[in-house]
Amino acid sequence: MMEPRTGREADVVVVGSGAAGISVALTAAARGLRVLVVTKDLVGGATPMAQGGLAAALGAGDTPAAHVADTLVAGAGLCSPDTVTALAESAPGAIGWLTGLGARLETRDLRLEGGHSARRIVHSGDDATGAEVHRALLSALLASDIEIVDRTVALDLLLSDTGAPESFRTRSGERDGAGTSAGARVSGRAAAANASPAGALGRELVPARLTGLLAGTIGADGRLTPGVIAARAVVIAAGGLGQAFGTTSNPAGATGDGIAIAARAGAVIRDLEFIQFHPTVLWLPEASGQCPLITEALRGAGAVLRNLDGTPLMAGHDPRGDLAPRDVVAARMAEVIAAGDAGHVWLDATGLGRDLLENGFPTVTAACRKHGIDPVTAMIPVAPGAHYSCGGIRADLDGRTTIPGLYAVGEAASTGIQGANRLASNSVTEAIIAGRRTGTALADALGHARQESPSPEAHAGGSFRAWGAHGREEAVANPTEHGASASHGDPAALSRGVVGRGELARAMSRYAGVMRDADGLNELLQVIADAGAVSGVLELEAVEAANLRTVSLLIAAGALRRAESRGCHRRRDATETAAAPWHTLARWDGQELVVTEEAL
Ligand SMILES: Cc1cc2nc3c(=O)[nH]c(=O)nc-3n(C[C@H](O)[C@H](O)[C@H](O)COP(=O)(O)OP(=O)(O)OC[C@H]3O[C@@H](n4cnc5c(N)ncnc54)[C@H](O)[C@@H]3O)c2cc1C
Repeated sequence: MMEPRTGREADVVVVGSGAAGISVALTAAARGLRVLVVTKDLVGGATPMAQGGLAAALGAGDTPAAHVADTLVAGAGLCSPDTVTALAESAPGAIGWLTGLGARLETRDLRLEGGHSARRIVHSGDDATGAEVHRALLSALLASDIEIVDRTVALDLLLSDTGAPESFRTRSGERDGAGTSAGARVSGRAAAANASPAGALGRELVPARLTGLLAGTIGADGRLTPGVIAARAVVIAAGGLGQAFGTTSNPAGATGDGIAIAARAGAVIRDLEFIQFHPTVLWLPEASGQCPLITEALRGAGAVLRNLDGTPLMAGHDPRGDLAPRDVVAARMAEVIAAGDAGHVWLDATGLGRDLLENGFPTVTAACRKHGIDPVTAMIPVAPGAHYSCGGIRADLDGRTTIPGLYAVGEAASTGIQGANRLASNSVTEAIIAGRRTGTALADALGHARQESPSPEAHAGGSFRAWGAHGREEAVANPTEHGASASHGDPAALSRGVVGRGELARAMSRYAGVMRDADGLNELLQVIADAGAVSGVLELEAVEAANLRTVSLLIAAGALRRAESRGCHRRRDATETAAAPWHTLARWDGQELVVTEEAL
């Protein structure tokens, strides 16, 4: 029998310990709130992996207005200009805050990155910016009195049936204050896939008053011990979802948990179809972790992309050849990969020679060798990899979502900054700025004085979604019962738990990767619908697999709905960009995923 953990309580629970989560926590705690950080991995996440840097208009002659203009161009019509302006104007201050915390950042010799009209990239070392930013943030977190609960996974929000404003209790799904229009429901093939997020017992979850979080402590064997954290507000800062794809630069924990949790609770998810792909990520047969980035500089030094038969891949397709812009190269690679069965193409660096590879590209060479490929003598399998999720939980720059008490920040959020395509190095900047603003907004909303949070026992009468004994979502009335029910594990069920995750990820790369069309996306919806039930025991892999299935459906449904090409969303059957831009809004309404458009 697995016993549920003793309940904890706080004013604010922050899910995630990346740049976004720690920035929220430090700021809210500095304003007197009792903050608790729950994280799968205190030192993990995408933040420490960020290589390039943080965008901030600090250079001579550069201005926030120029930063805004570049961001709006990249965002292809879907940015919120006011929000982008707030980001650009706050960016220099955010850098100052980080250096004040002790981050060693180069703020004078700024770098230039693609899409920026000025040298604007604050960095640290050659490619260690994220690691340095995270080191400084983590030091400050550990030095504070903020409670940290590591190796613990957020499972679901706790929502009381009472106390919500009337506007959040409607089940129409079309408006709910979101300004939607032209609603359409994902139906037919996708219907089965919808059943999971809507709840196996058929109970609709009406966004109501948020009272805390259900979380599971991760055991050495991956099994979870569930427990309740009572709180007055929950902040989702759980990062991205790159693991939904067969090839990704994202860390193993980027399984879209935060977005799936918010979706299950009825939050509006916006523009999730916009996934930014990096053209050359080392292709690995199983989607079981982060795939190393193979730097463009390798092609700059003479490495050649090749078809499976060894012929040059870019020959005759673009006069710039292998050094054409990322999206052009990625699109060509995707066409070739879709026509074959291998799932990858080749990057041939054998012509560079041992000396240059080992001394000029030690990181890439070591990463390849770690996976049994010696680039000195063998071609490297590469594929475009999911790199950044531009959409997410609809939120403003102060973190407020469509559910009272639920906040979202960082890569998990859609605030209007990244639009249809992220401008390089804007994401860590956003995580810091939105994180700090959210901490301040929480203090303003909850009051500076510490107040009593609802006790864990108070949840016994409320309903919330949880992972039941059979890995389905169930509405349960008592966390203690849930804890007991989660204890029945049998090895056969466990082995069934992750079946389909790799297959689904490969289907995502094939049908919702760089190039998409309606036929493929419909095929994908069928794969998602067929993706098996998750584990019979409450364990991390089962929870992540289910969350990946949820975000996969949101991405596929959004991509199908968006019959145009815009930003990093490319449809081979709809190559034009529509004159009037719109946001894709997705929200579960009972058993159905309702996908609507919101004109800008
Ligand atoms: C290889 C690589 C290079 C990049 N380079 C740059 C760059 O140069 N510049 C730039 O601006 N951006 C870059 N990015 C993107 C950038 O790193 C991220 O967008 C940003 O760091 C996201 O910060 P975050 O705090 O939102 O999420 P993360 O840093 O990913 O943190 C997420 C946190 O949530 C936790 N978590 C997840 N799910 C749960 C759960 N269910 N329960 C509890 N905890 C959970 C994780 O353990 C982690 O602590 C890069 C990304 C990658 C992968």
